[in-house]
Amino acid sequence: MTRSITLQSVSKRYGRAARAVDRFTLDVKPGEFVVLLGPSGCGKTTVLRMIAGLETITDGELLLDGEPANHLSPGDRSIAMVFQNFALYPNMTNRENIGFPLRVGDPRGDRRPHVDATARMLGIEDVLDRYPYQLSGGERQRVAMGRAISRQPSVFLMDEPLSNLEAKLRNRLRAEIAQLTKELGVTTIYVTQDQAEAMSLGHRVAVMRGGVLQQVGTPRDIYAVPENVFVAAFIGTPRINLLQAVVHAPLDGGMSLDLGRQRLNLPEPLSVDHQLLRIQQGRQIIVGLRSEATRVGLPSQARPGEVPLTGTVEYTEYQGHEALVYVNIGSRSAIVPNLESPRPTISPRRLRNRGKDNGTMLTRWKERMNT
Ligand code: ATP
Repeated sequence: MTRSITLQSVSKRYGRAARAVDRFTLDVKPGEFVVLLGPSGCGKTTVLRMIAGLETITDGELLLDGEPANHLSPGDRSIAMVFQNFALYPNMTNRENIGFPLRVGDPRGDRRPHVDATARMLGIEDVLDRYPYQLSGGERQRVAMGRAISRQPSVFLMDEPLSNLEAKLRNRLRAEIAQLTKELGVTTIYVTQDQAEAMSLGHRVAVMRGGVLQQVGTPRDIYAVPENVFVAAFIGTPRINLLQAVVHAPLDGGMSLDLGRQRLNLPEPLSVDHQLLRIQQGRQIIVGLRSEATRVGLPSQARPGEVPLTGTVEYTEYQGHEALVYVNIGSRSAIVPNLESPRPTISPRRLRNRGKDNGTMLTRWKERMNT
């Protein structure tokens, strides 16, 4: 049985402090995997704890399967939580830890087949007869996951369950969590500060800042169509380039962005963005430009839809599968095109002459702008 979770303008105030969560509204469908993403202290854990019933709701309404749930005790919510610090019973074997929730449900039932099946699913059959202290961090986290599964909850709440693990293991377990929750079909809310984790796991991602929901959407939506500068800057590696610009849109046609030292002439034909921009004539806006929308080349090599920007190469960063070129285009703006994808049109060696080379950037104009 899976459940829908609805938060209607939910707020949390601790004592007299400002609201830790401020009028938070979110609708999670049965079986959906939603990630709460945001910087430290933005209220993610508080949202999770209110859903679990571990924290009272100051204002607003929580509904489980459409039924008011603000006052349900944690035990009546059929919710299992997985934390970053594993929380296993140290004096029980791993088998007992995983079977413990079953014992509570049915003291005389035979737990062995269920525990074995869960352990198989998690790949921890070999460690069942050891104690938690005899496990690696990753194994311990799997046992914690196993215990959560044993409760056969209709909702999983996971609070940064992978944050204590090293990068390789984190990536592997991430894929396993995605697979597992899909198999179980359980509604899941997952908290993280790691945008890559959020993008790879969530059916939808809810981005928070200072207790306030900034945007909720599919990973594709929040990456390609961020609703504000905070979301644009929080999502994506390398970070989006944010440029200050003044819109220049004379009535006799044409449109350009004044970037201080240079102008970016926007290509025809007019798109929706152009129409929006025309209204901003003379106003200052912030332009968001993703790395992969730029490449290094010569103006004469511009392809249809590309417009040139001129800048000075400051340094390059080789990262194996890609290389990033930091180019100063004036007035404290740095563009970071990916040198190797799409393929470079001038050699990386030339670019290494720090500050000497006047590389030219070609920019495909497809980014949304935010005022
Ligand atoms: P992190 O990613 O660091 O875990 P978070 O986004 O989960 O952060 P919360 O733990 O929900 O953030 O905290 C939100 C705000 O509420 C913070 O400013 C925090 O200091 C405050 N807060 C959390 N718990 C309490 C509490 N029990 N009493 C008072 N303030 C609290």
